[in-house]
Amino acid sequence: MPEPLDREEAQKLFKKFRTRKNGVHSCPEMASLCLICGSIHIMPKAGEEQIFVCKNCGFAFYRAICPACGKTVDGRDPENPLCRKCGLRICVCGQCNCGPPD
Ligand SMILES: [Zn+2]
Ligand SMILES: [Zn+2]
Ligand SMILES: [Zn+2]
Repeated sequence: MPEPLDREEAQKLFKKFRTRKNGVHSCPEMASLCLICGSIHIMPKAGEEQIFVCKNCGFAFYRAICPACGKTVDGRDPENPLCRKCGLRICVCGQCNCGPPD
């Protein structure tokens, strides 16, 4: 689990990413910040390692490590679009659950 955010830092990141979410995946602190309500009370969903849920507003998001390149993939980040075939988010390297890119 990442270090808990302090409120000031959380506020800064919330403002930065709320309107423009590009780069959320590469910011480790964003694992513990809800982009809907700004809460830092994020918990992993029981039984689903890659889904995180905001305890405040109930918003859930996908965040996982890419098995191919080790970078973080975050469902809130437009740089990690949804794959139409497997339904998972695509890493910046092109990997999703369909396997490595051609
Ligand atoms: Zn929330
Ligand atoms: Zn990758
Ligand atoms: Zn896919």
